[in-house]
Amino acid sequence: MTGDLAKALIRARERIDQATRAAGRSGSQVQLMLAAKMQPMSKIRQALELGAMLVGQNRVQEMVQSAPELNDLPHQLHLIGPLQSNKINAALRLATCIETIADASLAKKLAQRAAERHPIDVMVQVNTSGEVTKAGCRPVEATDLAALVGALPGLRLTGFMTVGLNSPDAGAVLASYLALTQIRDQVLDSGEEGTDQATQLSMGMSGDLELAIKAGATIVRLGTAIFGPRNPMQ
Ligand SMILES: *Cc1c(COP(=O)(O)O)cnc(C)c1O
Repeated sequence: MTGDLAKALIRARERIDQATRAAGRSGSQVQLMLAAKMQPMSKIRQALELGAMLVGQNRVQEMVQSAPELNDLPHQLHLIGPLQSNKINAALRLATCIETIADASLAKKLAQRAAERHPIDVMVQVNTSGEVTKAGCRPVEATDLAALVGALPGLRLTGFMTVGLNSPDAGAVLASYLALTQIRDQVLDSGEEGTDQATQLSMGMSGDLELAIKAGATIVRLGTAIFGPRNPMQ
């Protein structure tokens, strides 16, 4: 079991390095995030013991449940699923970054609590694919939302996140990732207050990390490529 996980991690890092080189970028520019959704905590622990440093959870509830099982292992924890306003306190306590800021009202609520407690890193989530099932603000709203978030005390805007288009058409998937890169560059060029650190691009999953890295991803979020199929009973 551990051997399989170790091999999968090495293989994933090879894919990342190869894609990064092919894109003419340096390997250290892309971080591997473990997407923990529907995976047993024992596997997340093993991956952290094998050197992974970054964990993504889709639900605050899962963060709360898994925190005691992971807190002896150094890692960073990002929220990569929706944040409900009644979970803001728990998210602030446990997450090092909330990647899923998709509207102004949530951003303001989070900022208010963060100002009372401690600042937190956030990303603006953009629905680059236009699929109705996907979360995120519309691409045309993204620069305004980023400016609003950047100006809020308590929030540190570190970048942008998207779930790419679900399609066998590689060109179309790449276009959805390039859309996020373009938004990031527009925001960095804007010079708006609090946006100069918004360099990160969290995009790409097990099936399409190469396309995301080609488009400029700095974090790829990998579930099945590391852990195998998800267990819906988890
Ligand atoms: C499930 C999930 C992933 C990982 O997907 P895989 O295809 O298993 O790599 C990445 N990001 C988000 C937001 C997810 O929900």
